[in-house]
Amino acid sequence: TFRRALRLDHMQSSSTMAATAAAARLRAQGHAVIDLGAGEPDFDTPENIRQAAIQALNEGKTRYTPASGTTELKQAIADYIAHETGTRYPLSSVIVSAGGKQTLFNALVSILNPGDEVIIPAPYWVTFPEIVAFCGGVSVFIPTHEHGFQLTADMIERVLTPRTKVVIVNSPSNPSGVVIAPDAIRQIAELCAARDLWLISDECYYKFVYPPARPFSAASLPPELRERVLVSGSLSKTYAMTGWRIGYALAHPDWIAEMTKVQSHSTSNPTTFAQWAAIEALRGSQASVATMLAEYQARRDWIVPALAALPGARCRQPEGAFYAFPDVSGVLERAGIRDVDFAQRLLEEAHVVVTAGSAFGADGYLRISYANSLENIRRGIENIHALIK
Ligand code: PLP
Repeated sequence: TFRRALRLDHMQSSSTMAATAAAARLRAQGHAVIDLGAGEPDFDTPENIRQAAIQALNEGKTRYTPASGTTELKQAIADYIAHETGTRYPLSSVIVSAGGKQTLFNALVSILNPGDEVIIPAPYWVTFPEIVAFCGGVSVFIPTHEHGFQLTADMIERVLTPRTKVVIVNSPSNPSGVVIAPDAIRQIAELCAARDLWLISDECYYKFVYPPARPFSAASLPPELRERVLVSGSLSKTYAMTGWRIGYALAHPDWIAEMTKVQSHSTSNPTTFAQWAAIEALRGSQASVATMLAEYQARRDWIVPALAALPGARCRQPEGAFYAFPDVSGVLERAGIRDVDFAQRLLEEAHVVVTAGSAFGADGYLRISYANSLENIRRGIENIHALIK
């Protein structure tokens, strides 16, 4: 009989991917399913980026590259960050990986020893605690529901122990859409510097902030704070490039060197022609990003009041990312069910895919992605309304 490794005992499969699979089953049975579950842009990758990949293929850019990515792409990332934040990272501080997910995996595998504690604010992206579990680390969750999903240095200070090694922040947040104020991030970085901790700033939704909020990267922190910060970035959402698998990290060269070692013995380099397309994404016209952002904002402005108007629901306005995160505890209490049951019934009876808040460490909420057309969003909310009634 097959026995899995002990290291995987505490690792769960992805609940968001399970919802996608359930939706595919219903579709195969001929139902029109509205997917408000996906953490993925509904837009195609912009034309200039696709053309760059085709050109790279035709030019024979199909061989191995250095494990940490091509010099050209690392340079493009360093230039992009310098342009956005004013900070110039040396190329020894940059690694390109197969998506932000691999970046985070490499980062945690390279720093955690069994028993090390990682502070994760809840609600959190499902993958953080699973990678920590894989590494034999211990996730220490800080609930932020009562604080408008905001995280402060004080809240972290209260849960520190001698085993604390890493703090993870994710702003704009998946699933809550909350943007942490730059000042709060700076204070968290100061705490990390003072207590010999490492800060991972997952900035996969960096560009996805709606006015008056403005993009903020921990890369813009002063050098003495930045020393202890790993910035994790991704092209997946910003450029509608989820399937291309390009993400990157910026960190202390020693950390990057260990991550490169891990990557060199696991996946080697990220896909070569995707790296060449990524250069076009970062250096080429940014017009498509602005177009997509305007569209997401229009959808957010429609969906949030519509969700807040559902009987028994409350929904705060997310400042970023492309998720609404309504508190549906009023609906659940009346029906005497849990959020997972509600999500299941929405799928089976209303044919709408959403994700239960408990998957993200927030019982009583739903994560509703608005990375779908306004027409589908409208139909989805109508179906949800009908089921609640
Ligand atoms: N971080 C967060 C918070 C995410 O939501 C995601 C994707 O859903 C990622 C990182 C990783 O995305 P990718 O691996 O496609 O770059």
